[in-house]
Amino acid sequence: MNMTQSAQASREFNCKARAAEPRSGLLIQLESLWKIYEMGTVQVTALRDVSLQITEGELVAIMGASGSGKSTLLNILGCLDRPTKGKYLLGGVDVSTYTAALRADVRSERIGFIFQNFNLLPRASVWENVEAPMLYAGVRKLERDRRVEHALEVVRIPEKARALPNQLSGGEQQRVAIARALVNRPSIILADEPTGNLDSKTSEEILSFLRGLNEKEGMTLLVVTHDLETAAYASRLIVLKDGVIERDQAEIGSRFF
Ligand code: ADP
Ligand code: MG
Repeated sequence: MNMTQSAQASREFNCKARAAEPRSGLLIQLESLWKIYEMGTVQVTALRDVSLQITEGELVAIMGASGSGKSTLLNILGCLDRPTKGKYLLGGVDVSTYTAALRADVRSERIGFIFQNFNLLPRASVWENVEAPMLYAGVRKLERDRRVEHALEVVRIPEKARALPNQLSGGEQQRVAIARALVNRPSIILADEPTGNLDSKTSEEILSFLRGLNEKEGMTLLVVTHDLETAAYASRLIVLKDGVIERDQAEIGSRFF
């Protein structure tokens, strides 16, 4: 698929997606989703027959033991990977069969992904890291500059624009990663153990920032966490066990635990 086709498919996607969303408010629908990794002769079933619906504006905490399939689920939801079987409807459009190029377009336009290890480009400045997703999306220079400046102010590190990632603390690097996730104005933020490498005070700052995006901006937020405090702020808790949803629970009162 060439760039023009890919851009056109992506525009179609967005038309369909925007048309489908207001009716239902349903953002994500998984139907009997499986992910089986093939490693030579060995098969690992990371997700088995997972069905799930997520509505716009939810704050979902995803928990479960190591190896239970949390990252696999998030990677599929974030269009970083695709399922072996089953359907993934994003805004009413089936993206489970999309090629890597189409999935990249979907990510660029709709999804902000935050990783435990920040995943910044090591030799690029803070400014360039935050600007990168907009280069892919074809945003013009003036608008890029405006958005980078704004995003760095929002995450409160405007003075670090020229620094390299390794000159920053872990908390600052995660702020850069959040700014990068926000510049293309995604409707969904997916965070895979975003505070796994941070001390508890910094973790609390990062998490309260992410909660603010959900509460004030209405962004749908899915966060994989081991932290009961984080889960306690969610409006919904999903617990995975051996690739199966063991528990899926909306908030009772204000706390789960
Ligand atoms: P979690 O994030 O909950 O720790 P993962 O989704 O990373 O779990 O992994 C779920 C299962 O899939 C584990 O058994 C893991 O070893 C396996 N797995 C994950 N990624 C791969 C991969 N790229 N290739 C093969 N097996 C994988
Ligand atoms: Mg994981």
